[in-house]
Amino acid sequence: MKTKYIFVTGGVLSSLGKGLSAASLAALLENRGLKISLMKMDPYLNVDPGTMNPFQHGEVFVTEDGAETDLDLGHYERFTNVNLKRENSITAGQVYETVIAKERRGEFLGGTVQVIPHITDEIKERIRKIGKEKDVAIVEIGGTVGDIESLPFLEAIRQFRFDVGEENVCFIHLTLVPYLGTSGELKTKPTQHSVQKLREIGIQPDFLLCRTDRILPPDIRGKIALFCNLQAERVITAKDVSNIYEVPLVYFEQGLDEKVCKRLGLKAKSKGLEKWAKIVQTLTSPSKGPTEIGIVGKYVDLTESYKSVSEALVHGAIANNCKLSLRYIDSEKLEKETDLSVLKGLSGILVPGGFGNRGVEGKIRAIQYARENKIPYFGICIGLQLAIIEYSRHVCGLNKATSREFSTTGEFVIDLMEDQRRVERVGGSMRLGSYACELKMGSQAEKAYGKSKISERHRHRYEFNNHYKTILEDSGMVFSGMNPETGLVEMMEIPNHPWFVTCQFHPEFKSKPFLPHPLFVGFVKAAVGLSLQKRKEPKTKIPILKKKSRSDFRISARN
Ligand code: GLN
Repeated sequence: MKTKYIFVTGGVLSSLGKGLSAASLAALLENRGLKISLMKMDPYLNVDPGTMNPFQHGEVFVTEDGAETDLDLGHYERFTNVNLKRENSITAGQVYETVIAKERRGEFLGGTVQVIPHITDEIKERIRKIGKEKDVAIVEIGGTVGDIESLPFLEAIRQFRFDVGEENVCFIHLTLVPYLGTSGELKTKPTQHSVQKLREIGIQPDFLLCRTDRILPPDIRGKIALFCNLQAERVITAKDVSNIYEVPLVYFEQGLDEKVCKRLGLKAKSKGLEKWAKIVQTLTSPSKGPTEIGIVGKYVDLTESYKSVSEALVHGAIANNCKLSLRYIDSEKLEKETDLSVLKGLSGILVPGGFGNRGVEGKIRAIQYARENKIPYFGICIGLQLAIIEYSRHVCGLNKATSREFSTTGEFVIDLMEDQRRVERVGGSMRLGSYACELKMGSQAEKAYGKSKISERHRHRYEFNNHYKTILEDSGMVFSGMNPETGLVEMMEIPNHPWFVTCQFHPEFKSKPFLPHPLFVGFVKAAVGLSLQKRKEPKTKIPILKKKSRSDFRISARN
């Protein structure tokens, strides 16, 4: 069978949920037994989002093979069984880089190198590559129709339809149909204009997904169909949902997958969506009462920066059948607060990955608070590094303990390895992707995973400095996960604590609603345990950290 291609574009405005729509359709098609692949095409000139500030672009998602990619790839992997690779996330920067390198090698034999056909050919080749040996390839085009940047990508997909045949290509366009409270009407004009823009460049959408706060009535669908030149049954409501795992259900109820299969001549039966309905049911009416977990970081104003972490926590909540709420805590503010009341009432504290020294002292305070007050703590990447610094300073008496990332002097319990010292390039030069780890028998980590050999994804430059291993072990720290080849520390935990587990890798990237990550399941379980205990003792006072002078919280080298 020939590969079928589905292109998902967006109009009117960004953040309407194009990535989630692509992921949901992929889930529905996979549910029909089809072999699928997904791809995100981003129109910006960065080679990958690895060098971008999370405030601008949200989280950087890391694949098994170590590519730093767009956060939509996280949705794709969470919603399906696909294992994405570097080739599944491309940017205009990458495409131009390849074409210009070819030009420098003289591969264009003296020809003038142009957007059409050279850039568009390169884009089409990459699309074809991810479609190989698959039944369906779903390709999402980043940005909004009308942007200058996305034009080469749109032109490439327009041509693509002729290259592989109309019967093998389906265009899906996501737009907004706002409800205007003042006139009590659903407005279709933004959708009409967005489709006009698309048709101007030669793309007639086969389906429209209309983001709204209510189900579109037949007359509105009819109007959109008339003005946008498609059948009314292909105008689909993309209704707002209370949690993202409802999206496949919303599309399924309207027969989107059925209609897309019909359009592409795909014969594949649906198995029904009971498993999705079940997780949505657990999320909307869990059996266990509320548990609040705090995420301490510096990008908390844009929670998209912690997308995989917050989703993995939701998966942990599904597995524990509990109601979860998340409190985002600004680590920089925490650094300046005189008391730690922003941490009050939390049943778990998580420090996710982070870079640079801004706000690290606030994170260290939160970690100390969790350790001393026996509040479940989960440290990821920098969350492990800072937990080691905290313990070194406050338990081992290494007052100057720090990381080479934050300071030029001090006791570098976290340091740069030899191979990283010579690195000059910023982009793509960290320890990235999947590495093996061996867990210590009897550790919390080993109990959580239920096995001793694991492999997890990495994205960091600094490592624990093994020179300090014995001192820390003598003070009670347990190094529960080690890289068997390099001897680098992968996991650390503190015993005699309900849950103080940290890892150098990023477990959040491998968690799925149907396959919750064991460390998130264990952490949420411990947090639920504490919240149950607190409910039994309503008057329990949450102790405040002993008052310390400001200088106690500064890294000595920065004074
Ligand atoms: N900044 C730290 C490092 O580079 C941690 C990175 C992270 O948390 N992802 O090692």
